[in-house]
Amino acid sequence: MRPRLSIRSRAPKASSALVRRVMQANTGRTTAPELTLRSRLHRQGLRFRVDVRPEPSLRCSADLIFRRSRVCVFVDGCYWHGCPRHFAVPKQNSAWWAEKIADNRKRDARRTAELRDRGWVVIRLWEHDILGDFVAVAAARIARTVRRRLERRRELEQD
Ligand SMILES: [Zn+2]
Repeated sequence: MRPRLSIRSRAPKASSALVRRVMQANTGRTTAPELTLRSRLHRQGLRFRVDVRPEPSLRCSADLIFRRSRVCVFVDGCYWHGCPRHFAVPKQNSAWWAEKIADNRKRDARRTAELRDRGWVVIRLWEHDILGDFVAVAAARIARTVRRRLERRRELEQD
C-alpha cells in the first residue's frame, strides 16, 4: 500500500489569484490590527513578549506572552484557522482545503489543551476580534485576565 502523502505535499497549486493571495498572507507577518492591539496593551502598562514559545518543549509560539501571569494570547487568522463566520471552503480543491483547515483547528485545540495542562491561561482571539473598534474589547479582556492572574499569584505567595 502506498503511504498517505502529507497534506502539505498534496497542496493545490496556487492557481487562482485568490488562493495565491491567501497563501501569501500566511507568512507570519505582523498585521496592523495586531500592532494596534499591542500598543493598546502597552498603554495600559502591560508588558509582554511577542512571538515566542510559552513552553520551550512545545513547538508552538504564541502571539503575546505574559510570563509572570502565565497568560498567552493567540490571534488566529479567520481563514487558516477556520473561523465559523469568515471561512468558507473554496470550490476548487475543496476536499484538500476542508482537510487542511480541519487539521489546523485540531492542532489549535491540542496546543490550547497542552498549555492549559502546564498552567497557562490561553486566550484565543479571531483576527476579526481585533479589527477596528473591536480591538478595545479584546485589549480589555486580555488586561483583565492578566491583572486577575497577577492578583491571584500575589495572594498565593502571601499564604
Ligand atoms: Zn472571522
